[in-house]
Amino acid sequence: MLALTFDDGPDTRWTAAVLDALAACRARATFFVLGERVRAHPELVARAVAEGHAVGVHGDAHLRHPDAGRAAVAADLAAALAALAAAGVAPGRWRVPWGALAPFTAELAALHGLALTGWTADTHDWRGDRADAMLAAVEPGLAPGAVVLCHDGIGSGARRRDCAETVALVGPLVAAARARGLEPVALDAAWRAPVPRGNPAWPDPQGSPESPGAPAGSPEAPGARAVRGAPAGSPEVPGATASAPAGSPEVPGARPGRGTPARPDVPSRVSADALG
Ligand SMILES: [Zn+2]
Repeated sequence: MLALTFDDGPDTRWTAAVLDALAACRARATFFVLGERVRAHPELVARAVAEGHAVGVHGDAHLRHPDAGRAAVAADLAAALAALAAAGVAPGRWRVPWGALAPFTAELAALHGLALTGWTADTHDWRGDRADAMLAAVEPGLAPGAVVLCHDGIGSGARRRDCAETVALVGPLVAAARARGLEPVALDAAWRAPVPRGNPAWPDPQGSPESPGAPAGSPEAPGARAVRGAPAGSPEVPGATASAPAGSPEVPGARPGRGTPARPDVPSRVSADALG
């Protein structure tokens, strides 16, 4: 199995289009939503659930935990959970914006019974690449237990104006996964998805372009700066995302060695969170 995940929605146009694309190929996915957008479009959350997808929480606004501080993040999470509750959803997973953990993030997750959930393969769809290019880049990461990061909403600073290429990617991505014997399923409680552990070198693949107040093109993410080989000035930190979040090391079946040597900072206990 494999998990497709979509962050930053719901978006009235693009979430609906992603749901249509998933329905067309009868695949399930997980949506990590923003409370402020859920309040605007609760019907999209309801539709996702009705169609068999999982819904997790991303945040209310799109706060970077290390910058926002505990009180702000706690309030943000509470607001997001309230928005989801109003939409009839009690999420079990939390993908924090940019995967950027603060020392208090795990505590807040535990307080609300949320499993912190990272990803193992990144489409970098916010950059505006064509679907075929994204597929070629992400295909090596389609392994058992892979968690693929996509976006069904536009964050400030994204290099694209819409999510059309993400929508176009869904069908081919599902087909590529199935060609490897991997059925895209919704993340449920049984999944042992990769978990960011407050790693200072956790990269910022989805984040920089959306970072509130962060200058585009600037590796403003602390994690990004910490990642070796990340080209200066590149928000997407290709080297970082290729080697990291969850990468490969801890996911059984992932390509051996990919990223492993370069990630001495990945706690070995992350392995315990890989899909068993
Ligand atoms: Zn996000």
